[in-house]
Amino acid sequence: MTHDHDPEGGFVPECPAGVELRPDKIQLKDMTRDQLDAFVKDTLGEKRFRAEQLFNWMYARRAASFEEMSNLPRGLRLKLEDAASLHRIVPRRAYPSPDGTHKLTFTCHDGAVIESVWIPSEDRNTLCVSSQVGCAMGCTFCLTARMGLLRNLSIGEITDQITFARRLFPEEEHGRLTNVVMRGMGEPLHNYDNAVAAMRIMTDDKGLGLSNRKVTVSTSGLVPAIEKLGQDINISLAVSLNATTDELRDEIMPVNKRYPLAVLIKALEDYPLRPRRRITIEYVLLEGLNDGLEDAARMVQMLKRIPCKINLIPWNPHPDSAFKRPSRDRVERFQRYLIDNHYNALIRETRGIEAMAACGQLGKPGEQLPKRFRKAAEATTP
Ligand code: SAH
Ligand code: SF4
Repeated sequence: MTHDHDPEGGFVPECPAGVELRPDKIQLKDMTRDQLDAFVKDTLGEKRFRAEQLFNWMYARRAASFEEMSNLPRGLRLKLEDAASLHRIVPRRAYPSPDGTHKLTFTCHDGAVIESVWIPSEDRNTLCVSSQVGCAMGCTFCLTARMGLLRNLSIGEITDQITFARRLFPEEEHGRLTNVVMRGMGEPLHNYDNAVAAMRIMTDDKGLGLSNRKVTVSTSGLVPAIEKLGQDINISLAVSLNATTDELRDEIMPVNKRYPLAVLIKALEDYPLRPRRRITIEYVLLEGLNDGLEDAARMVQMLKRIPCKINLIPWNPHPDSAFKRPSRDRVERFQRYLIDNHYNALIRETRGIEAMAACGQLGKPGEQLPKRFRKAAEATTP
């Protein structure tokens, strides 16, 4: 990576030659594998195995241009060059944190800026990817909610975050990207079709080649979509619980008014889990609101029929918010109660807070948004 520092902070990552956005052309990365097969066969009139080669170049080999695709005949490469575009986003900036976490920002064809977070650790590298520009769910403790929903990301806008992260953090230097969590900006199950299609490409051997256990979708609790997900795809599920009474959850997560706790818990109890797999329960700790032992006790009762592990996330502060992060003692007391009741409960250390890359800090309106979006953001009521 080149480190070209500038006044906005962070640096501009080097972009490989051949990467450009061509919204006027056919977007190969927005196709499912079947659609790509049909395009190569029916539209381009090529043999089927060419589609497989193309797919492999696009994802496994991260080709930056058609020219690189050396086992495709020159005629086909020229046809593709003429009709189709390979990229959906371009890298914009990278903001490093002292702990190695990087917030990555990308620009889309319409000027929208989206974000991912690269989180290295000893035994794995995780990329947290966005599924929407903004979010419609309106959780009161979350910064992204303030943007409202500007739009869904396309399949390629989701998968390209992974492709570029792999290019920015080459395996030889940083180790392999092992885990992807759809926990960036947006509610992935509110952009269901694109999120699922993107996860199919992530877990395809010839595609991005991630293990399906290591691709996780995090949801605020859209119950019908959770039910459908269990039928449609085998990946890991994380659910943001964040409260143990409907009274509080209604207040901090408006989605609870449509799908209250009893309905959500029932859907999780019925979720088709493979043997030895668990649902991750995420719980943002808000001082004085949901961090007492009475909350922990309700949680123990509530989750007793769900094979799960619990991630406790001390609330990450952002400006102009009335919430408070609990003291370490209170967080540990909460965790201890869960452990004493035989739950696997981890405190998720806050990483990348300096880069505003931590949970719930994605999307700083005004700063991240291109001008023509600001009005829309202001007008959208979360
Ligand atoms: N929309 C999905 C995924 C993105 S939000 C969802 O809600 O699950 C990712 C996680 O960050 C959620 O668990 C959410 O509860 C949590 N979160 C939001 N704002 C936060 C904040 N300020 N501090 C800590 N966690 C936060
Ligand atoms: Fe959306 Fe998740 Fe933030 Fe709620 S916590 S507003 S669902 S991104």
